[in-house]
Amino acid sequence: MTTRFALLIDPASADELRDDFAATFTPTDPSAPALSVGELSTQRGDGIFESIGVVDGHAQEVGPHLERLAHSAQLCDLPEPNPVQWRQAIDRAARECPTGESVIKLILSRGVEHGPTPTAWATVSAAADFSLARTEGVTVVTLDRGMDSGAPARAPWLLLGAKTLSYAVNMAAIREAHKRGADDAVFVTSDGVLLEAPTASVVLRMGDRFVTPEPGAGILHGTTQISVFAFLESQGHSVAYEQLPATALAEADAAWLVSSVRLAAPITAVDGTELPVDDALTADLNRYLLTPRD
Ligand code: PLP
Repeated sequence: MTTRFALLIDPASADELRDDFAATFTPTDPSAPALSVGELSTQRGDGIFESIGVVDGHAQEVGPHLERLAHSAQLCDLPEPNPVQWRQAIDRAARECPTGESVIKLILSRGVEHGPTPTAWATVSAAADFSLARTEGVTVVTLDRGMDSGAPARAPWLLLGAKTLSYAVNMAAIREAHKRGADDAVFVTSDGVLLEAPTASVVLRMGDRFVTPEPGAGILHGTTQISVFAFLESQGHSVAYEQLPATALAEADAAWLVSSVRLAAPITAVDGTELPVDDALTADLNRYLLTPRD
């Protein structure tokens, strides 16, 4: 994914009231070095991020992404992001997005070791082509997250539920899924509770109900899943957040991985067992997810 644009952001405090934060933004050559070697984001993965889907220059679900950025900052004891400043940074980045699908990434790092402030930046890249995943679907294997369902409450320092830059485990899970012959993974707790995929939320259809694991289970609250639920409700379907057993996935009447850039990818098999695919609803979901949303 080639980065087309990068914007360094001088983070303002959350309560700084200003109409125009343009003076705190510095566009920078995305192919030139821009970070200090003392950066804690690169040394320790100590920071948080968001990946926002952009369709024809419109950044999707900006409100929910900024809310989750603020939630991650709180869990990580990072300064609260100034929502007006970040929204303006997203607007600035969106101006650099060509027609078609792009990705805006927001990064808020602990900063430079012993430095005074966090560092922050935004980038724009072309989105990968996910048309096959959206139409043909993905196979998944369930992988033990190595923690029981009590871990988020018992050990908040694990930062479960924060979108931190420490994604090495998530990437390792995808590699493990590939080794086992699947396209992607779905995490389950060691006591058998369904969680999320390494880069996506999981939505299941069980009869005429649509369910997703509750975000309190130490998973991210997906912005795409929020939109999918809004769409399904507008179509008269009932939706719910629930604690689901890991076995629910293979027994579902249909299931999807949903995320900001890949959008809705139907799950075609779980641990080698085929899952029914609802082609018409999948097409409706992706059509909806490609329309402009705030
Ligand atoms: N869960 C994890 C671990 C993720 O990394 C992501 C997205 O990257 C999601 C869920 C889905 O979130 P969103 O729909 O906001 O992209």
